[in-house]
Amino acid sequence: MTALALSSLSREELRRWLEGLGHPAYRADQIRRHLLRAGEVGFGSMSDLPLQLRTELEESAAWSTLAVLAATSADRGLTEKLLLRTGAGHELEAVMIAHPARDGSRGRRTVCVSSQAGCAIGCVFCATGRLGLRANLTAAEIVDQVLEAARRWDAQGLGRPTNVVLMGMGEPLQNYHQVVLAIRLLHEWGISGRQVVLSTSGLVPEIMQLAKEGLGVRLAISLHATEDQLRDRLVPINRRFPIASLLEAARKYAAASGRRVTLEYVLIRGVNDTPAAARSLGEMAATVRGHVNLIPMNPIPGSDLRAPSAAACREFASLVGPRATIRHSRGDRATAACGQLRASLAPEPRREARILARELALVDSPTGPPE
Ligand code: SF4
Repeated sequence: MTALALSSLSREELRRWLEGLGHPAYRADQIRRHLLRAGEVGFGSMSDLPLQLRTELEESAAWSTLAVLAATSADRGLTEKLLLRTGAGHELEAVMIAHPARDGSRGRRTVCVSSQAGCAIGCVFCATGRLGLRANLTAAEIVDQVLEAARRWDAQGLGRPTNVVLMGMGEPLQNYHQVVLAIRLLHEWGISGRQVVLSTSGLVPEIMQLAKEGLGVRLAISLHATEDQLRDRLVPINRRFPIASLLEAARKYAAASGRRVTLEYVLIRGVNDTPAAARSLGEMAATVRGHVNLIPMNPIPGSDLRAPSAAACREFASLVGPRATIRHSRGDRATAACGQLRASLAPEPRREARILARELALVDSPTGPPE
């Protein structure tokens, strides 16, 4: 019998399940508090629950859908990368990033979660893309990444997660239903739509569908190029949904959700870092009334692609205009930065060769917009 994943249930569903077993509904809140607490390792340690209930939970429910295989920390413990494994044996990664309280501002704790093990999209600058898709994660497996982070921060005396970003392994909108369900479940763990950022490579129909869900999540578009010829090579989904259709979807999402859209742009030396691309990016951000996050390329194994110099990144940002900020990756020292997540898995050889061929073509003849 498959164990019931507690993280797959809403509070009300857990209440009803407990009542079905003959226990009072308030036990649901007790159990849910335990799931967030430091030092909890399973049902056995829930000493305020009756022994009979603990035994029933051990027999029929899963404490977590994920096993922690390893944790790597950097930035004096403020950044932590978790290597996790699902019950089906798929590996994935989540990254915890704590921003301490400073100058009167309250601290933030962001969990970057994976929505898939591996990814089918194959962006040229991304380690995960070289793996290919191994599995879609369930909503419970997505929520359990956040609960694991909550327990770890609790152990450090920090508060609960304040933000969740769907920017780990995978394209969230290719696992649409489980991702939407996970976001709804996270609302009940105190994470509102405003505190969730969903990053997509640009699946236009799913962006339009998401706009109708009323979740209020913030959308980040992985743009990375300002003309289709180059974006076709960097982010292959562009061949199905070119830039104009993607920006139109972004505009509609912003209008429907009332949330500002972010355009993500990985800066790659000699590929997409021309002054003309910067100006064009600034214009695109203006048309969607969005913001631009510039991310200097993080090195990945087996790739020669590199970031421009720090001065060149600043110059690019100034040409984009006031809507741009450079995102200095906190995760890179833990190999946990954008595009670097790939668990301990070996890339799929034929897939990696295909991506490498696209990378070589880019370096040999960058196709950024003419000066
Ligand atoms: S950047 Fe995102 S969408 Fe692209 S290959 Fe990596 S994980 Fe997939």
